[in-house]
Amino acid sequence: MHITIIGAGYVGLVSGACFADLGWRVTCVDINEKRIAGLRAGHVPIFEPGLEEVITRNAQAGRLTFETELEPAIADADAVFIAVGTPPMEDGRADTAAVAAAAVDIAKALKGYTVIVIKSTVPVGTGPYIERLIREANPQADFSVTSNPEFLREGSAIRDFMEPDRIVIGHDDERAGDVLRALYAPLEQTNAPIVATDQATAELIKYAANSFLAAKVAFINEMADLCDEIGANVDDLGRAIGLDARIGNAFLRPGPGYGGSCFPKDTLALAAQAQEADCPVRIVEAVVASNAHHVRRLVRKIERHCMSAWRRLGRADTGFAGKTIAVLGLSFKSNTDDIRYASSLVILPQLAKHGVRVQAYDPAAMDNAASVMKEIVYCDSMRAALDGADAVLVLTEWPEFLAMDWDDLKSRMKSPVMVDFRNLYAPEDVGAQGVAYFSLGRPEAGLEASGDAQVTRLTGTTLQAVD
Ligand code: NAD
Repeated sequence: MHITIIGAGYVGLVSGACFADLGWRVTCVDINEKRIAGLRAGHVPIFEPGLEEVITRNAQAGRLTFETELEPAIADADAVFIAVGTPPMEDGRADTAAVAAAAVDIAKALKGYTVIVIKSTVPVGTGPYIERLIREANPQADFSVTSNPEFLREGSAIRDFMEPDRIVIGHDDERAGDVLRALYAPLEQTNAPIVATDQATAELIKYAANSFLAAKVAFINEMADLCDEIGANVDDLGRAIGLDARIGNAFLRPGPGYGGSCFPKDTLALAAQAQEADCPVRIVEAVVASNAHHVRRLVRKIERHCMSAWRRLGRADTGFAGKTIAVLGLSFKSNTDDIRYASSLVILPQLAKHGVRVQAYDPAAMDNAASVMKEIVYCDSMRAALDGADAVLVLTEWPEFLAMDWDDLKSRMKSPVMVDFRNLYAPEDVGAQGVAYFSLGRPEAGLEASGDAQVTRLTGTTLQAVD
């Protein structure tokens, strides 16, 4: 079968490359000519582990091609996947304009029966709306519209596509369902369960899943704050509650708030659609508010921790302005260059506004960050970022940050102070290295308990896998 994918972004490129790897003939179409020219020349425009190999392998085998022209790519396609962006509008609703524009373009090029598959995350009711648009643009067209939301995660997208927890197919006619089942048949053989349902439910499943996960993140972040206030340990708490199979252990590590291109916009979109339906989802609304509050508090935490450490380290110049803070990690999570709604976009400009010099390093996201944050000094290595810093802030859980050379860090920094918003290290280990260490929901370490310092309570915390 021949598949055409509209939108060669994170989802479109990964889906296209993976479908080609499953043996189908795939054409990826994008309006971004530079992107398509780059892909044709073998340049993969996003950082996604393993993607380049899959693209190269399938492009060389002739199964994967890249186009800017829609018409030839649609004419003999059995299925056309729409995988364009659906960013949030000012009022939180998802902007489906790009999906609608793609649908109208597709309509004009349709020849023979074609299944139009909406892979973009869209509000309930988008399927029938797209069907109307296509029907108006091309009354003769023979087509069905289906929903097939995508659940891949950036950073592990290839594995997530090839070994999905489930495949959701929302269709209101059997002919379309059969085509989609055939396309995913190679994955069914890997025991991936298929949830076949109606379009509205399929559309809602995606929002519900992301909102539930966002709720877990917001919940553990609130627990971490509470642990800090009352002297409990969030590592032990998260582990213990996660051992309950009804809760599950994923997404129970605190961090600098959820970000990325999905959770922030999908929680907002679900809350907005529920409001419109006069059926508010109060829990999701609270999750959105909780996350925003959490991120805002982090800047105050950085200032409080740093000032307290500098004072106790005997530094006379305890003001925040004029200091240098090294920042490790800019992407919203590790293994991606995506900075959309990353906490770095909120925290770093705030630090700069407070007169702090920010020296940042990220293994993949520096170009993206530099295009939107001009006030930051970008360093080409972790070491360069640490040079002359008064404190270091960890924002992303990149594996390379785990292998920290503490002696090197101390030799480079003006004062060995670390604020870790990913809880990457065991406090007692960092403290034993002579580094003042502050993380989320765990005791501080590396400073003598004295004066205003809370008593450093070292516990046997273990480093868990980071989601
Ligand atoms: P993206 O911004 O990375 O890519 C979108 C691509 O679509 C861009 O390259 C853009 O040039 C192209 N495009 C826009 N309009 C077009 C048109 N009319 N014709 C051809 N190309 C067009 O977006 P993304 O992150 O891949 O997200 C796509 C959708 O998938 C969104 O609805 C998102 O919510 C959903 N989703 C994203 C992820 C993720 O991790 N990124 C995961 C699951 C679902």
